[in-house]
Amino acid sequence: MYAIFRLGSRPDRVLDRCFISMIYTDKQITCHDCGMDFTFTAKEQEQFASIGHVNAPKRCQPCRIKRKKATSKTNSFAAGGSSNIDYGVAPRKTFAVKCSTCGKDTVVPFAPEANRPVYCYDCFRKVKQTLKSESS
Ligand SMILES: [Zn+2]
Ligand SMILES: [Zn+2]
Repeated sequence: MYAIFRLGSRPDRVLDRCFISMIYTDKQITCHDCGMDFTFTAKEQEQFASIGHVNAPKRCQPCRIKRKKATSKTNSFAAGGSSNIDYGVAPRKTFAVKCSTCGKDTVVPFAPEANRPVYCYDCFRKVKQTLKSESS
């Protein structure tokens, strides 16, 4: 255990400081936004912890400030409801295929498999009906 406290020449004075620095040590963090390395100091970590934050920040301070501003903007934007991104009606991925029955160009909402027939809408209906009448 004492090996950890080898930091200072006066272990008696250093002891309680070391206790803190055992929990909070300066951390090098790469900013999530700008990719710059920044130091999350022990002091900041202490402050962070005192206001209830558990996780280290992912961003440097300038980016955090920027982001805070951006977020408050985005929030009011979202409240206004004007957004280009509408997840409800996201365009479905479709694949251009040729109908196995009539040869018509069509699209299917799944990746066609080589050994599986694909049908245009009309033929698909016919095939479905055939299968139905066959099974009943
Ligand atoms: Zn940054
Ligand atoms: Zn067809």
